[in-house]
This record gives sequence, C-alpha cells and structure tokens, in this order.
Amino acid sequence: MSDFIPEDFIQKVLEDSDIVSLVDSYVPLKRKGKDHWAQCPFCDDGSNPSFSVSDQKQFYYCFKCRASGNAIGFLMNYQSKDFVGAVEILAKNLGLEIPRTKSNYDREKFDELFRFNDEAKNFYKNNLLKPKEGEHIRYYLKERGISEEISREFELGLSLEGWDNLVKHFESKKIEAKESSKLFKIAKNERKYDVFRNRLIFPIASRRNKIVGFGGRVLEDEDQPKYLNTPESGVFKKSRELYGLPNVLERNSRPSQILVVEGYMDVLACFSFDLPIAVATLGIATNKFHLETLFQKTDEVIFCFDGDEAGRNASKLALEIAIPIVKDGKRVKFLFLPDDHDPASLLLEKGKDELPKLIKDAKNLSDYLFESILEKHDSSLEGKAAASKEFVSLVKPMQEGNFKNILINEFSKKMDVDLNEISPTKPEAKKHSQPEDMQMDLSKVTKSLLKCIIHNPDLAKSENLDYFIDNNEFLISPLISFLRAKSDVSFPMIIQEFPDQKNILIDLSNDQNLISPDEGLKFIKQAVDYIERNQGDNLLQKLKIKYEKNELDSKEKIELKKLLTSKFEQLTEDELSLFKKL
Ligand SMILES: [Zn+2]
Repeated sequence: MSDFIPEDFIQKVLEDSDIVSLVDSYVPLKRKGKDHWAQCPFCDDGSNPSFSVSDQKQFYYCFKCRASGNAIGFLMNYQSKDFVGAVEILAKNLGLEIPRTKSNYDREKFDELFRFNDEAKNFYKNNLLKPKEGEHIRYYLKERGISEEISREFELGLSLEGWDNLVKHFESKKIEAKESSKLFKIAKNERKYDVFRNRLIFPIASRRNKIVGFGGRVLEDEDQPKYLNTPESGVFKKSRELYGLPNVLERNSRPSQILVVEGYMDVLACFSFDLPIAVATLGIATNKFHLETLFQKTDEVIFCFDGDEAGRNASKLALEIAIPIVKDGKRVKFLFLPDDHDPASLLLEKGKDELPKLIKDAKNLSDYLFESILEKHDSSLEGKAAASKEFVSLVKPMQEGNFKNILINEFSKKMDVDLNEISPTKPEAKKHSQPEDMQMDLSKVTKSLLKCIIHNPDLAKSENLDYFIDNNEFLISPLISFLRAKSDVSFPMIIQEFPDQKNILIDLSNDQNLISPDEGLKFIKQAVDYIERNQGDNLLQKLKIKYEKNELDSKEKIELKKLLTSKFEQLTEDELSLFKKL
C-alpha cells in the first residue's frame, strides 16, 4: 500500500464521513443540545459524560482529558490504527478506493531522492572496504570498540579526500548529480563539489528503513565541524529522525525500554556491546516528536546524559519535554553517566556490564523532578512556598491520570500543603485554561484573527494578511499559507494539518463571539493595522519576559537594547534599570 495518499482524497474522505455515526458505532452517543455526548473512551471521567462529538464541526472533544480530533484521529486513537489504516477504514465505509497511482509528484520526487541516497551510501560503503584507503578508519572503529558486524549492519562508509569523488561517481553511472539531493554544492565557478569530504559516514535510515540523509564525522580531530549532517531535504528533517531506531526495532519490534544517547558513536558502541536499545537525536535536543515516536514503540524511555555541565542542562530540557507527554503506563527515566564519560567511552573503559547496571538504577521522572525543584529551595516556609509554586507550574501541562494525582499527593506531603487544592486538575478550572505557551505566543488580536479565519477560510486570501506571510508568527502564518494553497477547506482538514495545535484551534472554533463574513474583511484590516503599529511594543514585551526567565540569547539581548534605546525618553523605572543591566 502506498504511504502517499493524495491530499484531496483525504479531504474527500473527511468531508463524506460523518463523525457522529462513526463514533456512535463504537461508543453509544446521546444527543444533548446541538452536540452528542458519551462517557469518554480515552479517560476515566466518572459518572459525568465529558466526551462530546460535534455534528456541525465534525470533531470530538473530551472536556476532561482534552482528547480531540477528527474522524481519522478518532480511529487512530480508538482503534490504534496508523494514519493510513484509519483512512482505509473510512474509505471502505464510504465504498471508495484509495488511489494507488504513482503519478503523485511528491512520490516521484521522493523516490528520486532515495535513489540518490542509496547510490551515495553504496559508494561510501565500498570506500570503507577498500584495502588501502579504508584501513585507518577500520582501525579507528576497532579502537573505539565498534565491531565489524555492527559497522556492516549500520552500513558505515567513508568519503575520501578530494572535492568531487561522489560527483565523478554519479557521472560514471550516468546519474545527474542534482543539487536537490543535498549531496552536492555548486561553487562560484559553477563546478559541483561533494558535501562530505574526508569523513566517516553514518547513513541515517528512516523508520521505514530508507536512507534519508547522512551524518559525517571528521577523520582529523583538528578539522571542523566535528560532525556534519546532510542539509534538510524533501525526505530529511533533522528534528524528526532518530539514529538507530530502525535497528532497535529490527531486533525487537516492541522493546521493553529504549535508551536515548547523544551521538552516532554512542549508538554504535551500545550495539557493539550487546545493548541494542540505543537511539540518538541528530545533534539536536530531544523534542516532543522524538518522545512521542518512542512511546509508540515502547513503554519506557531512558534519557542518558553525559557527566558534564552540558549533560545536566540537557536533562532539564528533557524533563520539561517529557512532563506533558508521559502518562499512566509510560515511564521516563534519567541516567547520569560518571564525570567526563559518554556511553561509548564508558563501554570501552568498563566493558559491557557497567552501563546496564546504571540503566537499572536510572532515576524515575518523579524523583528527578522533585530533586531538581528541591535543590533550588531551602526548607523554610518561604522556600516551601516557592518550591510548591514551581512544582505546580511544572506539572500543570501533565496529562490527567493516576500518575499526575500521585505525583501531586507526594509533593504535597513533602511541602505540608495540599496542592490538590491549587492544582489545575479541577475540571472547571481546566475547561477554559489554555496551555501557557499559547498565552505567550498569541495575543488577543491574533486570537480574534484566527477565529475569524477559521470560520471564514476564504478570508485568508485577503492581502492584508500578507503581513503574517512576511513575519513568521506561531500558528497564524502557517495556517494562512495552508488556506491560501487550498480551496474549500473544512475545519477537520485544518485540525488534520495542525495536529500539535489541535486544542488551541478547537478552543477558538468553540468561541461563540463570531465576526460575520461581511464584517470579516474590515476587521482583518483593522486588526493587522493594530498589530503593525504595536509590533515594537509586543516584541519588547516578549523579550522582557524572556529576560526575566533568563532565556535571552545574545542576538535577542542586542534587539532588546535597541528597542529600549528607541524609546529611551519614555522608559519606565523598571525598564531603565533593565537597560542598565544589559
Ligand atoms: Zn477524556
């Protein structure tokens, strides 16, 4: 079955399906007002049905656990189908056949990129096997404890010295060395040259085991940068791939745990030392997508951090990523390696028994969370109050469930205060609460604009909204681009396109204060004028908040200074003291 279902077909399936009868066939619904209600199938909502299905908007929403989505999303969650599987069920119900044509433009383009990558992978692989040219790298791998078997399994390779070895190889095979492959660059004199030169090559496979890109490590330690990745292409997005995941799943499709390490060499070392459960992000911090992907395959994810300052900082970030995602039945653990060690060096020095021991003793998320809060505050009443405040704001985004309740109870005991009272688990407090990042990112005006566009998608074409195309703003800019590229977009299609912002979109679409289509254009013009006028102030506000949280980078610091200088005459006292501190 093709993974590339044309988008217009998905749109048709969503339009023709009726979510009310679909959900009703699994979970009996009762009509109340204009919506249909049931006991939530995704959470324990007691005797009060919290799960609603809207006929008009064609989506479901639980007021307790905030589960939400369209017909495809319902099948994915309720029937544990993947996206294609869910579309298949809906199509079958409608008596439609999913188009299997290969004429899809993306499909052809992607296939071509995969062909380029395969050719390059084989070329690099053969280089590593060459008796003379590959010898020192084979020796290097052996020294680092990477077995020949693992080197073969991961299809490691070598790009030789020289500017255009791969270009010449492609030419000899009568394959055009296209820049779109991201394997080549074009010099000022229009000559093509290889991206990877004189590097150990790690082919990066997608979850479907296709080569999507490459990582390359320098051979001489003084060369820079030490690691280099293929630039992003149509098939390669750094933030979505996990090195080693296909290999982990090849050994065991449902591993009991997966270890997240930092680099390519750490993954290879783990596999070589009989620990085939390691994956690595591609030189970036672990994100939400990574963790969600891993939880589709395992119930326990262990983050492994190097025993240095950078490792400790990365662990704080991982904690924040994990809290909203972890739920009952899923576990996140934190493992800190001894000083100055990474997994590869530890395995090499201590052999294969030490790391599994550390894995067994890794800290649970709850312990690490408590520890990281308590180490910052003393045991005075003031300290406890500050710690409680920090705790509440950290666990706020956590999904409802036993784990959250237990966590709150435990911390309450430690602080001698009932945090259940002030925690956001009470449904009435939650119903209108919105994730904090949204409050940060969306101003009132932007929210009104979003509401207006969601209800009247055709208005997205208004020239006044070009402002958002030029200024990349959270959610609204990509939404406008999406709506401009399509016609007749229904609300379920919008949720389909922006799964991460589903809850915000549903909240906005539920709002009753609507702007009529006739008033819409006028409103858009006024709103954008207003935003443009206040642009400087908004940015100033944002940067000030970031400064207080200690999150400013050096570029933003300069920006903040500039903004303050530009209104120097009108600075408030606080701003003046901030200005002096910068
Ligand atoms: Zn629910």
